Amino acid sequence: MLKVNNIIFSYDKEDVGPPVLNGIDFTVEPGEHISVIGESGSGKSTLLKLIYGEFDLTEGEIFWKDTEILGPKYNLVVGYEFMKYVAQEFDLMPYITVEENIGKHLSNFFPEEKKERVQELLEVVELQDFAKTKVKTLSGGQKQRVALARALAKQPEIILLDEPFSHIDNFQKQSLRRSVFNYLKYKNIACIVATHDREDVLGHADKMIVLHDTRIIANKSPQELYKNPEMPLTASFFGEFNLINDEIIYAHQLQIVEESDLKVAVHHNYFKGHYYLIEGHTEDDIIFFENQTALQKNSKVYLKILILQ
Ligand code: ADP
Ligand code: MG
Repeated sequence: MLKVNNIIFSYDKEDVGPPVLNGIDFTVEPGEHISVIGESGSGKSTLLKLIYGEFDLTEGEIFWKDTEILGPKYNLVVGYEFMKYVAQEFDLMPYITVEENIGKHLSNFFPEEKKERVQELLEVVELQDFAKTKVKTLSGGQKQRVALARALAKQPEIILLDEPFSHIDNFQKQSLRRSVFNYLKYKNIACIVATHDREDVLGHADKMIVLHDTRIIANKSPQELYKNPEMPLTASFFGEFNLINDEIIYAHQLQIVEESDLKVAVHHNYFKGHYYLIEGHTEDDIIFFENQTALQKNSKVYLKILILQ
């Protein structure tokens, strides 16, 4: 398994400023799917790069099974056979085809096996129709998929993915995400996915690590964090919410009733597809709730808080 033991890291080698990451400690089991979430600049990419051995740690240590991951000071060639990393900015060979890029590091000694393997990976990233296309003519999203397939070519034991679907449009994202994440589970490849897209997490991650202010503020299953988000930052991942008497109450937990202590005037209806998100105003607060239909502006309604199931 992966062990990240109490690491501290600062880009600033004089160590005058505060570290980017401080006291980061967690483990990842073989085949486990971990999401790392946090605001932009919270250190998600830095954490993946540290796990890959791109930088020297200020303190702490990282192990995959019995191998210590060492930074450039102790390890001249960054990277290990058992671990692959797909960066936010991927570098491919532009003048060769998609299938040549994917098979780049596969041995030519068994051409039939190589061909089958490349074909399998083209299917995982849904690029069968582009096998013979030169990479330089692809869109950003297509390149991102080639980078994913290439990282999987020599099956790693763990893969680090930095915002892996960020360049891919919404039409294709859902199906590609299922294809890639299901493939990783099926092959028992552990993955750590840095993301700010909740769709990357919900339905896929075994655990969510929430980074905030240089530290891990939560590391639990999405189910547990949904029920008990503790922090607004975590709750915001699961949808619109309110702070009512210092408690986090999701918009869908509020239901219109005949009468209650919580009276709001309807201010705005936001169409969301199968429901409306409604902004209501109390004397001194704004409350968001959900309803099947739009409500008359300025009408008064009473809301009841439902317990989370
Ligand atoms: P995220 O991926 O969560 O957006 P990053 O890991 O990219 O966050 O960045 C974390 C912090 O480290 C930010 O404040 C960023 O400005 C800083 N940072 C990132 N890369 C470097 C670098 N190469 N040199 C100095 N500071 C950096
Ligand atoms: Mg990043």
